[in-house]
Amino acid sequence: MSDVVLELAALKRSFTQGDVIIEVLRGVDAHLKRGEIVALLGPSGSGKSTMLQAVGLLEGGFDGTIRIDGEDVTRLGQGERTKMRREKIGFVYQFHHLLPDFNAIENVVLPQLIRGAKQAEAEERAADLLGRLGLGERLHHKPSKLSGGEQQRVAVARALANRPLLVLADEPTGNLDEATADRVFDQFVKLVRDHGSAALVATHNERLAAKMDRVLRLHEGHIEV
Ligand code: ADP
Ligand code: MG
Repeated sequence: MSDVVLELAALKRSFTQGDVIIEVLRGVDAHLKRGEIVALLGPSGSGKSTMLQAVGLLEGGFDGTIRIDGEDVTRLGQGERTKMRREKIGFVYQFHHLLPDFNAIENVVLPQLIRGAKQAEAEERAADLLGRLGLGERLHHKPSKLSGGEQQRVAVARALANRPLLVLADEPTGNLDEATADRVFDQFVKLVRDHGSAALVATHNERLAAKMDRVLRLHEGHIEV
């Protein structure tokens, strides 16, 4: 098994806005090793979300190579991509995207059931993850009854529910106040480390970036070297 979890080579993505072509990613080269937590740093509009969407197999339309766990995902068909995404990738977004009609534990159980886990096992795992994030008393609360920080912690538990090889986080604490953001982020890092997952975390926050193993800076469509 290779030590490299994610490898990007000459990744390009442009958008057409009216008559103008905006080249957002102009040839990104990067890699992540097993267990590494890496910041993707860059100002607003530099292409961080675009890059995570490509890596997360959420968006097509890019050129170049993306290898996840040694497999060239650009060659996969739609069904295989979906399978890869469910089995190997966990996402945390800036706005939690929890299902509003499901409570905290159900939101963490669901992705496990989709992947074929048994109900009882999925519940046990969800309760364990939420407990470790300090939400043991909040399992049956719906998202609307949770604070912003609590919602974001449920989203972290959901992302890790299937023990992903790679966690992609897009400004995961971007809508929280500074103290809450720090707390949630520290718990996120601890949980990711416990799992041995690699994580790529987009942020424009230098302070959060400093807590990670390494920083990739996105500038004018390239990763600075
Ligand atoms: P960041 O996450 O670093 O703030 P984004 O990846 O969201 O940056 O955006 C990078 C650039 O790509 C911006 O100029 C944005 O307007 C443009 N962009 C992103 N998505 C689209 C899209 N779907 N259509 C057109 N332009 C887009
Ligand atoms: Mg963004």
